[in-house]
Amino acid sequence: MNPIRTLRARFALWLTVLILAFLSAFGGYVYVSQHRSAYNAVDDALMLGAEQVLAALYEDDGSILMPLPDPNAPDLVEFIALAERGLTLRVLASNGEVLQAIGLFSHEPLPVPLPTQPAFHTIPEANEVDRIRVYTIPILENNQIIGWVQTAQSLANAEDSLDRLRTALLVGVGALSLLAGFAGYFLAARALAPIDKITATARRISAEDLSARLNLPDHGDEVSRLADTFDDMLARIENGFARERQFTADASHELRTPLTAMQTILDFMRAGERPAAEYRQALDDISEEADRLQNLVEGLLILARGEGNLKLQEDEIDLTLLLADLTDSLRPLAEAKRLSLTFERPPSIRLFADPDALIRLFVNLLDNAIKYTERGGIIVSAGEEEGDAVVEIADTGIGIPAEHLPHIFERFYRVDASRSSRGAGLGLAIAAQIVQGHRGRLEVQSEAGKGTRFTVHLPK
Ligand code: ADP
Repeated sequence: MNPIRTLRARFALWLTVLILAFLSAFGGYVYVSQHRSAYNAVDDALMLGAEQVLAALYEDDGSILMPLPDPNAPDLVEFIALAERGLTLRVLASNGEVLQAIGLFSHEPLPVPLPTQPAFHTIPEANEVDRIRVYTIPILENNQIIGWVQTAQSLANAEDSLDRLRTALLVGVGALSLLAGFAGYFLAARALAPIDKITATARRISAEDLSARLNLPDHGDEVSRLADTFDDMLARIENGFARERQFTADASHELRTPLTAMQTILDFMRAGERPAAEYRQALDDISEEADRLQNLVEGLLILARGEGNLKLQEDEIDLTLLLADLTDSLRPLAEAKRLSLTFERPPSIRLFADPDALIRLFVNLLDNAIKYTERGGIIVSAGEEEGDAVVEIADTGIGIPAEHLPHIFERFYRVDASRSSRGAGLGLAIAAQIVQGHRGRLEVQSEAGKGTRFTVHLPK
């Protein structure tokens, strides 16, 4: 697996990029505002210094007294405190000559134009001297420029601290983003660890062994829910496979029984010459087994077909008519056993359903009722109840013992093989499947020795 493509790596990468973007924006804002205020502070100091020097040049009567040229700058001594803080103060004559100056750049040439209005200039870095900020104001007397007051300060301090700030921000932002990335990676790895377990378990699962489960502790979070769902799904699949295996085993056992019977009859007949009557009997027996086989295969086919997606064609049918026809055609079967088969015919009941499937459903139920009744008869009734069509098939037969009732709709389930020698136990399973396919309900009530009542509810 490509490590960059794992979810945790992508999560960490995104986190790094996002944090980097946020911190960069924040750092940029901090740097720009620090930059502005550092330069503003220098300019303010320069302006204040220059104005103080200019004010000092005024006499009490309002006239201006230009200082005499003096390298010791006696007139500026009162500003020594400003000079000690790095400010250079100069008074220039009208020809640009420095009359008096104190501070670092007292007598340096400061190559800036001498303006007619107060102005700032920046002298670029040269000969290992850092940039210098210069403020110059003209000294006016009767609108005549008689000299200039100039203040200057190196920008080294401001720029040094800005440089340090920039380095700190760059390192800080980079380190924090990386840290966030690592933290994100480990958090994601922790959060996603169960997913790796799910993957490993899914790999271990095969059709032969579906018993693997995650059994993760339930933290109530998304991954726990996923793991739970996964375990539930495994349980359902395991169940489904087990049922399928059971079905296949049962089916092959059931198919083998009539085949073995036929084989036995054939072997016996072939062993030697037999009277003609025995051959006839043997053919009858084989034919009976073949019938059984055919019924079984048909039943299995119906069940298997319904297993995938029960595609019932839906037509509007008249249930009353359908039941009347069915009871009429099955009546001879009942009468052959001296049983009555009564249909308590209701007014027409119409519903949307698959007619072939419904015929199969009621034939199975009626066939059972006739098969498992020795005395009395069968009453079929139909009606409507809360929007459902309801059909009842009640017999006065041998009934089904209570302990068997929960199982009779299972495939191949027979209450006892001796009393239902003809059936394979598929009839009710098919009936249940058909009712389910119509989103209906199939219920049974029975009392051993008294009779059985099947109730079919079909939504209309
Ligand atoms: P079979 O082909 O054996 O009849 P079914 O699935 O139709 O299989 O029925 C399952 C079992 O339920 C039968 O073996 C039978 O014992 C019992 N049964 C079904 N219908 C009735 C009934 N009307 N009266 C008594 N027992 C019944």
